[in-house]
This record gives sequence, C-alpha cells and structure tokens, in this order.
Amino acid sequence: MTERILVLGAGPGGLVSANLLALHGYDVTVVEKSEYHLFQPGMLWIAFQGHPPEKYMRPVKDLVKPTVNLVQGKVAEVNLAERTVTLEDGRRLDYDRVIIALGAHLDYDAVPGHSSLVEEFGDYFRGADYAARFWSHFKAMSRGTLVIAAADPLYKCPPAPLKAAFLAAETLRRRGVKDSVSVVLALPFIHEYPSETVAEIVAPKLREAGVEVKTMFTVDSIDAENRVIYSLEGESITYDLAAVIPAHKGPAIRLLPEEARDDDGFIKVDKYTLQIEGYDDAYAVGDCNNAPTSKTGVTAHLGAEVVVERILGFDSRFNGRTNCPIVTDGEASFVISTYDHPPIPVKFSIFKRLLEDAFIASYWSSLRDPEKWSPIFRAYFEATDPSRVGGGW
Ligand SMILES: Cc1cc2nc3c(=O)[nH]c(=O)nc-3n(C[C@H](O)[C@H](O)[C@H](O)COP(=O)(O)OP(=O)(O)OC[C@H]3O[C@@H](n4cnc5c(N)ncnc54)[C@H](O)[C@@H]3O)c2cc1C
Repeated sequence: MTERILVLGAGPGGLVSANLLALHGYDVTVVEKSEYHLFQPGMLWIAFQGHPPEKYMRPVKDLVKPTVNLVQGKVAEVNLAERTVTLEDGRRLDYDRVIIALGAHLDYDAVPGHSSLVEEFGDYFRGADYAARFWSHFKAMSRGTLVIAAADPLYKCPPAPLKAAFLAAETLRRRGVKDSVSVVLALPFIHEYPSETVAEIVAPKLREAGVEVKTMFTVDSIDAENRVIYSLEGESITYDLAAVIPAHKGPAIRLLPEEARDDDGFIKVDKYTLQIEGYDDAYAVGDCNNAPTSKTGVTAHLGAEVVVERILGFDSRFNGRTNCPIVTDGEASFVISTYDHPPIPVKFSIFKRLLEDAFIASYWSSLRDPEKWSPIFRAYFEATDPSRVGGGW
C-alpha cells in the first residue's frame, strides 16, 4: 500500500516537503487553515514601502502539485503515539508519517499593551492586512519618532528589524521628510545584531541611513495611551508610530505527548534529521521546531529537502544553514552560517541585492516546483558555504 504522509501547514517547509514527496509517488495530504499563502518577507515591503498586499499572496491550491490532496482546516491536536491528527471541526486524519510545518505562534499577549499598539497602528509580522494598516499610518508621517523594536531576542528572520529600519529610512528620504522623522531601532542585543561579525558590517550602514540604534532594549510593556515603550533594562522611548516584534512560541495546537515540546512550545527534534525525539515516523520542519538555527524560509526549505531525502532512504543531514538577507537602499548582504560555523562577514553590494531580488522572484516557483530549483540552490549554497568563504565574501 502507498505510504500516507500528512503534511501540516502550507508555508515553505510544508509545501516543499509535500511537492517533493508527491513527485516520488507518495499519497500526500496537506492540511492548511488559510486559503492563501503569504510570502512573509513581503510584509516589510507592504508596511514600509506601500507595496500592494496581493503581490505577496497566492492561493494555496495553486502552490501544490495536482496529486497532492489539500484539506482546508485548522489542526487542533496531533497524537504522535496514535498517529492521528484532529482538526478543530472534529475531522480525524490518520497517517503513516507526519511532517509538522505549522510555523511559529506569535504571542501578542506576552507584553502588556502590545495588542492595543497593533490594533491601532498595524504591524509587519501579523499578516498582510496588518502590514497594510501600518503603511496607512507610516505614509502619512511627516514628523516625530518611529520606533522599531523587539519583545524577545528569539524571532523569525533575525535581520527583519534592520530591514524594516532601512526600508523606512529610504521611504522617508524619498518623501523628503527624513530630517523631521527620527527612526529608532531598539534591539535586545549588545550590538546592532546578535553576531558581532554581522554587527560590524551593519553599524556603518545604519549610521549612513540616519537610523538611531538603542542596544540592550528588550520591550517589557507598552503604554499605548501615552505612547511610551518601556524596556526590561529600565529605559523608555516615546513614539509617534511603533512596530514591536512579538514573542515567538511553538505552534498553538495540542501535541501529545506534551514532552515533545520545549518550554516555549517548540517541537523537540534531532537537529540533523529533524525527526521528532522518540518517533521515527514524525518530523518537524521550519519555524515550529527547536533546531538551534535561525527561523527563516531558507532554513525551512532546506530542512524540508533533508526530511524528504530521509523518507526516500538517504542519510541526509541538515547542517543548520542560514542565508538571511539584509536589504538597504539598493544593496544587500546575507547572514550566512551553519551549526558548525558562526556568521561570516558578507559585504553589502549591489550584486547581492540583485541576487536577493532573484531569490524573491523565484519564490513561488521554488515552492511549487522545488525540484527545478534544487540544483541552482545547491550550487549557490555550496559556493557560499561559510567554511569555504570563511574570511568573508
Ligand atoms: C517580516 C518578515 C521578514 C522575513 N524575511 C525573511 C527573509 O528575508 N528570508 C527568509 O528566509 N525568511 C524570512 N522570514 C521568515 C520566514 O517567512 C519564515 O521563517 C518561514 O515562513 C517559515 O516557514 P514555515 O513553513 O516553517 O512556517 P510558516 O511559513 O509560518 O507556515 C506555517 C503554515 O502553517 C499554517 N498553520 C498554522 N497553524 C495552523 C493550524 N493550527 N492548522 C492548519 N494550518 C496552520 C499557517 O497558516 C502557515 O501557512 C521573514 C518573516 C517575517 C515575518
């Protein structure tokens, strides 16, 4: 009998897994709660540069191969011992193998006042509609202080707030109001980036862009009425407009046994095989797992390839590779690392911006037809392996 594989979630991790397995003749079912897939980095361009949300959304049904069964529904429970998945509406699905790719849960209740801030001004993490709401405020801003901050050091795409600050500064400059609007980047790190190597590359660019950086500022509470953000470290910043990245947790489902998750709810996996501890028929890929690497679309995509190869019988291992872009006005750099190699210094250049724009242009096709892009991505990742380009790139 053909093996039944359930893939939970149609983000990059789920779609790449499902579409590759379908090519190999598996009986694949994807469960997804949303009708549309959102290219999450697009929220930056919607919120800070006014791009239309539709540009970054596609119906999930157009992103799966014809032989993949698509079930629209919300996963409520996964029982690893019984090999069952229960949906919120009561439907029950059995599997021979499961790949959990439900992403991270964003906790807007962890910081007092955060939900009020987001309802008033929108946000660039919560969804395309919230990003559009943020733009409606940002585009009208002609003086005052814009604060971009984070509530916790763990969030997806570590360079996201830097990109937000660069894109915001660029828009303000183009609108001729940069001198009357202060852009403050408040980060819960010692430097401008958790890795000092990357911070050294980024700091001069932030100065050039006129972005003020406050380090060691972990958002503790927000007084949305008086427009003040307080930090755990005892400081405060007054804002006219603000966006705060929320705390990230594991997926908001019931997972049995409960010991399969860590204290923050992320699913415990072997960092090389992405197999859920204690279960050889269950994997967790992408943002929902506790692998010690950055939570990004690239790591979700590469992790999915490893899981598929393992299901096919190969001894593939995920090396924790990251490739997070930092985009400025016309240039880009990448944060490149693996489990064994910390980030290397990657200089900003116009060529890297071109490369990043090419990655973005390939996004939809790389999810629907990952097999076509694998050779190109493989060549890129081998050529830019941090151990190979150790001294920089
Ligand atoms: C502002 C921003 C900028 C970013 N920039 C970059 C970047 O430049 N490069 C990069 O590589 N990454 C970037 N990322 C991160 C990247 O988008 C994520 O890491 C990536 O989407 C993770 O993929 P995933 O498949 O693990 O999870 P997700 O993409 O989050 O997908 C999870 C899916 O599961 C579904 N789901 C969740 N719960 C349920 C449920 N209970 N039942 C059914 N379905 C459910 C969701 O609807 C979603 O479709 C950025 C993220 C943000 C927010």
